[in-house]
Amino acid sequence: MSESLSLGQLIAADHPTIGWPSDWAAMTKRLFTTTSAGLGQPTLLNSASIEEVLTCPGWWAGQREVDESELSMAGFRLKATRRVARRWLAENLGSVGSVQPLTFTGQVLHRFAATDDLLGHWIRMMPAGQLAELRAEVAMGLVRLDADWPNRTALTSLVPGAVSARTRLGRMTLTSELVDATVGAASMGDGGFEAGATLVSFTMTPPTSARLEGLGPAVLLHGLRTGCPPARIVSWDLVGGTGIARTIDNDFVLMWCERVCEATRRIGEMQSWFEPRLNGGEHCQICPLFDRCPAADRSEYAW
Ligand code: SF4
Repeated sequence: MSESLSLGQLIAADHPTIGWPSDWAAMTKRLFTTTSAGLGQPTLLNSASIEEVLTCPGWWAGQREVDESELSMAGFRLKATRRVARRWLAENLGSVGSVQPLTFTGQVLHRFAATDDLLGHWIRMMPAGQLAELRAEVAMGLVRLDADWPNRTALTSLVPGAVSARTRLGRMTLTSELVDATVGAASMGDGGFEAGATLVSFTMTPPTSARLEGLGPAVLLHGLRTGCPPARIVSWDLVGGTGIARTIDNDFVLMWCERVCEATRRIGEMQSWFEPRLNGGEHCQICPLFDRCPAADRSEYAW
């Protein structure tokens, strides 16, 4: 992983060439589809739900009871910012647009506010002062984005968002909403592919290796759609202007294939009415079942 580089430098950094067999996508699809036969009902998996069920199946089950309307203020702020940033990338493909970041942000937030979804509702409910703060913060992120990725408009291979955000594999649907930009593409090598794409994910807090690793499902989705995994992933903080990156190697992809299969098996067990094996720990403090779970770790709350 690398720090203290601009976004443009993180994307363009040298990385080893990784080759993948031409049937990688077909084999991986078969593996996931076969494993999903153990599910009792159609099930969505993303990096958060995989983390939950592998940490404690009860946490995963509790999280399914939580409504998206309970998403935190920070969650909505990040969602709004990432959506504006993707629009900004789309508007400025090939050349820098004529609309100023602050004006652009105001226009896009205004359009979001007119929608029926939760984000639109949340923006309509925001006090004017808070909305002005959000607008200024997002616009500053766009200014930083342009400064930290100056050669962006020269990239013919830049796609805002992901090439695939969801795919159905038997009874399991793998999703990832974490990719904000895709740069480059694989090429055909001797008997297979040479990875070439970079996936970029925006945050509004200093990037962490946990968030970067959480791009695993996005890596698999990209590979299933294009034939092979990307070459590199980048997590970039739009507010702080810092980021980290890593090369995608065979170990990372194998680890995430195993995580997806194991998560699918554990959910299948619960759907077959097997009693979940509860696993208390620090994570209990953010589990929705904390107040009523007999296995919750309350050691921090021993008053
Ligand atoms: S409170 Fe802890 S042990 Fe209980 S379900 Fe949640 S994470 Fe698992």
